[in-house]
Amino acid sequence: MRCLDSRLRGNDTKLFMQLEKLKKILTDNGELKFRLSQIQKAIYQDGVSDFSEISTISKNLRETLEKEMKILSFEVEKVLVSKDKSSLKALLKLADGNKIESVLLSPMPARNATHSVAGGEKKWSVCISSQVGCPLNCSFCATGKGGLQRNLTAEEITDQVLFWRQYIRKQGTGNSEQEKNAPHPSDSVTWQNQNLLIKERGQISNIVYMGMGEPFLNWEEVKKSLRDLVDKNLFAFGSRSISVSTAGIPEGLKNLAEEFPQINLAISLHFATDEKRNRFMPINKKYNLEELKGALKDYFSKTNRQIFFEYVLLSGINDSEEDAYALSTYLKSIGHRQLLHVNLIAYNETGEEFKASSGNKTHLFKDFLEKGGMSVTIRKSLGQEVAGACGQLAGNKLKIF
Ligand code: SAH
Repeated sequence: MRCLDSRLRGNDTKLFMQLEKLKKILTDNGELKFRLSQIQKAIYQDGVSDFSEISTISKNLRETLEKEMKILSFEVEKVLVSKDKSSLKALLKLADGNKIESVLLSPMPARNATHSVAGGEKKWSVCISSQVGCPLNCSFCATGKGGLQRNLTAEEITDQVLFWRQYIRKQGTGNSEQEKNAPHPSDSVTWQNQNLLIKERGQISNIVYMGMGEPFLNWEEVKKSLRDLVDKNLFAFGSRSISVSTAGIPEGLKNLAEEFPQINLAISLHFATDEKRNRFMPINKKYNLEELKGALKDYFSKTNRQIFFEYVLLSGINDSEEDAYALSTYLKSIGHRQLLHVNLIAYNETGEEFKASSGNKTHLFKDFLEKGGMSVTIRKSLGQEVAGACGQLAGNKLKIF
């Protein structure tokens, strides 16, 4: 949420404390303290997208707030929805004109999506960006191609979650009869002019920092965003429903272990020898596998939590038996084998020279690791249709819009 203070209009990206601003308006208007919690609840938990919808406060106050503040820190340019309505990607325009992408994914196929999951509603995952672009330049990933533009502020990070909360509340997610008959969103359909559909279609159960950027290279803002996400008065997510993914920055691992030991950690490993990792992930030249191992051991000693290793299978590059052996050997050398979990990820085409490994190769790779006692999952790739799958964000320089 941000205010439309004159300093912040146009290209001015100066930061400010939106909650401070809200508190000030309330104090200036002689409002009681509990108004703040009412407003916070309405915005952060209920997903209200307009002050006029907050029925628990007076009309006067609603009008003042509307005049002085804006809830989201960006404009929503477009939302693309996959045909099965299980993956959505938003193009968000920041106050300085930079653009980022954020993705909403349903882990279940759409045809089952209207069925309640055990004990509750449909669950969604939100994939959020932490930087505009990325400085890491991994050769198989589309996000890094244009380099880093800038870090996101904590507010720009958490506003992505707020936006999806609002979106779900306003639009439904495409599974009602009414929605199924609605026109499929196309390039010409923007969020603003899509039909408003049904209300309340499940809720966000997971947040993953797996969008654009390297979270640990923007730690100060990522840290603030994590605090807000778990704050009971704000987003109120459980720590264990949040995952941070990193290409392996030792300092970041240390910070996460010390400050958020309950938040899940994913390591984008992808290659288990320095020779290969150096070739495709330049960050490895700075922090090699040995150094990463030291940081992971340290992480275990502080948290005793499970670590997820992401391994994207690239045909002919890292999917041989030899590669599986190297991976297995590396992971075993870290220790705490029962706390290691490997996610084998199907490569999403980004128009580069890489190809995804075949299903057969993928299964052989998995079997090899499992024989060595590793716990392994083959991860289905969600979001490809809207180019919102891992590594595809901003890949086509937004021309798909
Ligand atoms: N910089 C962080 C956060 C980005 S997460 C990190 O590296 O973890 C994005 C994930 O998608 C990373 O695991 C990344 O390696 C992976 N990825 C990148 N390009 C991909 C592609 N084309 N197909 C599948 N996964 C990809």
